Amino acid sequence: MLHDVTSVKEVFESPNGAKNHAVEKRGGHKFVTGGDVTKILLTVDTELSAALHQRGCSPVENFESSILGRCDRGDFGIVHQMKRLDEYGHKAVFFIDPMPALVYGEQIVADIIGPVVERGHEVQLHMHTEWLEWTKDSPVGGRQGRNLSDFDYDDQVTLLKLANDILVNAGAPRPTAFRAGNFGANDDSVRAVHGAGLTWDSSFTPCTAGSDCKVELSEDQIAPVLKHGTVELPVSGILDRPGEIRPAQICALSIAEMAAAMDHAGTEKHPLFVIVTHSFELLSRDRLHVNRSVAKRFDQIAAFIAARSGLQTAGFNELSASEILNDERSLTRLPPKIWRRSARIAEQLWSTWRYERSLTPI
Ligand SMILES: [Zn+2]
Repeated sequence: MLHDVTSVKEVFESPNGAKNHAVEKRGGHKFVTGGDVTKILLTVDTELSAALHQRGCSPVENFESSILGRCDRGDFGIVHQMKRLDEYGHKAVFFIDPMPALVYGEQIVADIIGPVVERGHEVQLHMHTEWLEWTKDSPVGGRQGRNLSDFDYDDQVTLLKLANDILVNAGAPRPTAFRAGNFGANDDSVRAVHGAGLTWDSSFTPCTAGSDCKVELSEDQIAPVLKHGTVELPVSGILDRPGEIRPAQICALSIAEMAAAMDHAGTEKHPLFVIVTHSFELLSRDRLHVNRSVAKRFDQIAAFIAARSGLQTAGFNELSASEILNDERSLTRLPPKIWRRSARIAEQLWSTWRYERSLTPI
């Protein structure tokens, strides 16, 4: 079958899988001791949909679709994702958007945070400023914008502090990290993250083509870097073709690419590898069905990390900023491989036709 051409078995059996470290489980999560490990930040942007709200969906319908990932075959959202991750002892970071509280009230945000905290995963701050369009009591004098970068520095600090407070009031431990919705951040956002008392930002994605990200960093920035008082953690990626980067997003890379990229990071002893997914990413684009191809890939990534002694999932709160920033080695991305790229394109065409009922690839 076309969707299996990516030789997962071969990827899982590469020499880097040799067990060099003691692996133990504490409190349900896998910890690796005795040697260097690459920490995998498995980040899940967790958000109600402003588009569904605009189309007239009720808060309950929005919650069921966007957070629970409910479709004709069951639930494939954050509860499903956490169950799958918990089986392997992984910890994930849920970047939760509290802005819908300005429209729906705070309880819906508490309902998102509760199960994440209960299962021991990490809650961090996400923000979609689109919701300001419907709020009656604007915190920024009625000014609106699709992206955080549409606002000036002072407004950005106001919005970040407000969102932070909503998240904490709704039951989250005080966040230390931020990611802008749509990656729509600029340098003022990075300054504002520091101004709002947060340590980490993960709004920079190296794939700038067609992106809303305006943070001024080179596409070649792989390692975390101190910028305007904030530690910027670029989203990881691979070189798809020479000079062309593809981000480490679960729907964007095949399992062969994601596994090879993590192995590459492990072999070069990168301190971190940042993967992005969404609360609704295992659904088809129309949200009516599960995309079995992406759901299977989610499981394969979890299994792969568990099988590799040099890889360990982590939250921001387990990271040491000074240790990471003192590491000045130059790092590289996984280089392009024609067979891997061709296999992904074939897999995507098959998956898009099978699960999206469309011939337009993601
Ligand atoms: Zn988002």
